Amino acid sequence: MLRWCQAARRLKHVCQYSRCTQREVFDVVVVGGGHAGTEACAAAARMGANTVLITHKRSTIGEMSCNPSFGGIGKGHLMREVDALDGLCGRICDTSGIHYKVLNRRKGPAVWGLRAQIDRALYKEQLQAELFKVSNLTIIEGAVEDLMLGEQYASSELKGVPQLAECLGVFLSDGQEIRCRSIVITTGTFLRGAINIGLDVRPAGRLGDAPSIGLANTLEKLQFRLGRLKTGTPPRIAKNSIDYSQCQVHEPDSTPVPFSFLNEKVWIKPEDQMLCHLSYTTPEVEKIVRDTLHQNRHVQEETNGPRYCPSIESKILRFSGRKHQIWLEPEGISSSLVYPQGLSCTMPPEHQQSLLRLIPGLQHCEMVTPGYGVEYDYIDPQELTPQLETCRISGLFLAGQINGTTGYEEAAAQGIVAGVNAAAKALGKESLTIDRTEGYIGVLIDDLTTQGTSEPYRMFTSRSEFRLHLRPDNADLRLTEKGWLFYIVDVGHMDSSCGYKEIHRESDRVSALQCLALHSWSVTMEELTKINSRYECFRNNSLVAERLKIEALYYELIAGQKDDVDAIRRDYALVIPHNIDYSSTSISLSDEARSKLSRVRPSTIASASRIEGLTPAALLNLLRHVKQRQQEYSEVL
Ligand code: FAD
Repeated sequence: MLRWCQAARRLKHVCQYSRCTQREVFDVVVVGGGHAGTEACAAAARMGANTVLITHKRSTIGEMSCNPSFGGIGKGHLMREVDALDGLCGRICDTSGIHYKVLNRRKGPAVWGLRAQIDRALYKEQLQAELFKVSNLTIIEGAVEDLMLGEQYASSELKGVPQLAECLGVFLSDGQEIRCRSIVITTGTFLRGAINIGLDVRPAGRLGDAPSIGLANTLEKLQFRLGRLKTGTPPRIAKNSIDYSQCQVHEPDSTPVPFSFLNEKVWIKPEDQMLCHLSYTTPEVEKIVRDTLHQNRHVQEETNGPRYCPSIESKILRFSGRKHQIWLEPEGISSSLVYPQGLSCTMPPEHQQSLLRLIPGLQHCEMVTPGYGVEYDYIDPQELTPQLETCRISGLFLAGQINGTTGYEEAAAQGIVAGVNAAAKALGKESLTIDRTEGYIGVLIDDLTTQGTSEPYRMFTSRSEFRLHLRPDNADLRLTEKGWLFYIVDVGHMDSSCGYKEIHRESDRVSALQCLALHSWSVTMEELTKINSRYECFRNNSLVAERLKIEALYYELIAGQKDDVDAIRRDYALVIPHNIDYSSTSISLSDEARSKLSRVRPSTIASASRIEGLTPAALLNLLRHVKQRQQEYSEVL
């Protein structure tokens, strides 16, 4: 029997309690202290909401469940946007990174991917220190088992989903009741989590942590649409058992680029950064994977795993005969462990050890912990509003891996939006929406809430139709003022961003861009100051000059991109010939787009645009192809 029935009966009583007794009713309860939960509770508290974070263990707050790295292509953009809203993860990465590298440098700055190897222990330590001093925030160790819900609503619907009730609080496994006005659930891979190693399966949210069963049952009884996904992690290797002379060295950037707009440089000296190394799988690795498939439950499961971070088993089964990259990444300055990225696997541990020793550089390595897979429930994010509130339960918000995403950055980005909106709901303030034109956060939330996802969703720059505008360098110009209006950005942060904003006023910017063009992009701040005295205060600031140059680079292109987007809107009704051959190389499409289009065979450009994961670029290429071939296909149109 659901507790919301009891709670509904108790509702009057609860309201009296909050008025007449000292018993505390929090504004916001955040469930789970992972990457979504920490950003959510910090953002809610920054807005002035009396917030409580309830998480299994204080000691695992901010734990990186898998890879010791943050950022990457698309993910780095999300981090910059979280930072622009005064989130935590970017700042902490600037004080705990050990190897900073901007990916995609050969391409334009719009798609550069800020990435860093992070000292796992240092990140967690610093995140906890930061969180423990946030005012308005209480932290409770405990497991949330159930929701306390108020009266059933009569007949209201949101997005076709019946609104059942409003939330009033949570029940913990030890019997405590915590009352509140809004709840954010950020339970990651813990809902009915089960880990797989070989044929062994045991209940766990991740290795060493119990799953969340009661809460999953509650959500199921409330008729949330649940799905099941899986992911995995590689074995960890003893650092001193690796022969690095057989691997390629991977150098960090000589001038690390900080994640946070508030930092001009990162904590570590460039020359003190640690090295990563690259090795490859051998044909013998393929043999061991194939020979042990019958002992590998995780691989046999039909549940969808992460397409862009597949296990070594999936890669070998999909691309037979190829050699695969294995990145050897240090877990931290004083850590004795190395993380072999690319080698996530779930075969029995003894075979994992044998497999490792078939890789150049690892012939004598010691496996310290085995890799494993985890399966978990997620909630169909189409049940959410753009503010990440559930349609079913008023005041209940979801963020992070529970919504079908994968990655710390995707979790943090949702966390900050859910935290702000949970606080806004509790305090009776306006809610925050970030749309696709404003940020990758908007792209992420729009993709999830309108299309849903059937596999772990990760961010890529190709998911945005406005990617020349949504750049890592201008995330603060796009979002900081908005964050300030919602009271989540502090005044110091706003002031530093305002400075940049000044020079981005339309008239100033155009004259600066003209000046840059005239001087073939090599103009100095001093020369810009001659055009406009407003630049005077940035005379010694090379960062500003750099940002103006990037802006100048994209000035024309952004206008062109807008035309492309308008073209898509105009041509939405265009019919796609039913006999179109998606395998033809005359259409420029990725393998993923080809397979999705072949499977769905959309009848119009409008229906193609709704295919989950079909990028705007793929849609545009399809549109161009259909238009070009209109003559050729005219008999079937
Ligand atoms: P988490 O970081 O998982 O945090 C959830 C928190 O909720 C935990 O602190 C937990 O203790 C708490 N909690 C759960 N239930 C309750 C409850 N009922 N009451 C109180 N507290 C609760 N991402 C990648 O990008 N690439 C990868 O290769 C990758 N591999 C992964 C491999 C494994 C084995 C795992 C477990 C995760 C992997 N991830 C990977 C995912 C990445 O770790 C997550 O996307 C990210 O941590 C999600 O953040 P989150 O805040 O949603 O949840």
